[in-house]
Amino acid sequence: MENQCEKCKQNNAMIPVSSTIVECRNCGHRPTIDKISAEQYGEANAARVAFDKAIASGRLSDNPNKWNYAGDYMYMGIGAGDVDQFKHRLSREYIGGVK
Ligand SMILES: [Zn+2]
Repeated sequence: MENQCEKCKQNNAMIPVSSTIVECRNCGHRPTIDKISAEQYGEANAARVAFDKAIASGRLSDNPNKWNYAGDYMYMGIGAGDVDQFKHRLSREYIGGVK
């Protein structure tokens, strides 16, 4: 029963993809370990996509030595002009303008 996929019933199927998300390697089903709502999961996913996009476009960096290191920022959602907004954890300054 443990580690069984609740969707396809495969045993030992669930593998972790993050601290809160596991995925069935058989069918791809993704329940969450702590049963966070689908809405929250969508938000977490949106944040990950936003970070990926920001790093790819150079708005944020994956280099810890850069001023705009992504690890120092929190995703704050979509702001005016459909621009993803990020807030610095310490300075509380936003990155969010169209550049
Ligand atoms: Zn499954």
